[in-house]
Amino acid sequence: MSDFEGLKALVTGGASGIGRATAELLAARGAEVAVLDLDPSSVDKPLLAHRADVTDDASVRAALSAAVTDLGGLDVLINNAGIGAQGTVEDNDDEQWWRVLDVNVLGMVRTTRAALPHLRESAHAAIVNTCSIAATAGLPQRALYSASKGAVLSLTLAMAADHVREGIRVNCVNPGTVDTPWVARLLDAAPDPAAERAALQARQPAGRLVTAAEVAGAIAYLASPLSGSTTGTALAVDGGMQGL
Ligand code: NAD
Repeated sequence: MSDFEGLKALVTGGASGIGRATAELLAARGAEVAVLDLDPSSVDKPLLAHRADVTDDASVRAALSAAVTDLGGLDVLINNAGIGAQGTVEDNDDEQWWRVLDVNVLGMVRTTRAALPHLRESAHAAIVNTCSIAATAGLPQRALYSASKGAVLSLTLAMAADHVREGIRVNCVNPGTVDTPWVARLLDAAPDPAAERAALQARQPAGRLVTAAEVAGAIAYLASPLSGSTTGTALAVDGGMQGL
């Protein structure tokens, strides 16, 4: 299939996990794709790679401008770069709060601000933000992370309202627990990683973790003309976790 033939896409955090699977899927479906990442050294052709730190506005503007020049325009922005945090409100200090909000929320604001002038030139403009079920699920030990993703959900709805008349759609995906290098790092830090993984899988209604490719599929749908009248929505990709 070639749902993305002729479209140009940019994926932040595209060197690993969900972002990487998304960049590869969009490219396989015909898009020209650029990746913005802190460490894009592992990104291979046909993906274009640009180094950027989403907490640094100048870095984002420079990388986005270079990527748009390489691509020859921009139709799709995937705001995916993000970091995790564990604990209750007593466990994270102000510095940790500002750091996670800076990456997970302001990072999306910076890339979107830099991308909007280019997206306005597109006939198929779409933004997809990687949110999380943490935005609405009330997960224990995730106060800071959940607050950051709650902000991403609200930001998605507000951006959808602000830009719908310009022909720019804005949606988000809410993944559950996804088998990415991030989750592997958390499991590896446990005393018995194999037992921890088995316990995590057992807690999933579907009995397994979500794959990065499955989240990429949902992002690709929301980014493609197939969802041309869908804006301001959150699509859960959580193996049945939502509401449980
Ligand atoms: P990952 O750690 O595998 O990949 C994240 C990528 O983002 C990395 O390549 C990293 O270099 C990049 N990145 C981090 N900080 C950056 C910065 N300041 N500037 C530029 N790039 C930066 O993680 P993942 O599991 O693929 O997560 C991707 C997104 O999915 C995140 O927004 C995360 O919150 C969200 N998410 C993940 C899960 C999960 O279970 N893995 C669940 C729900 C939501």
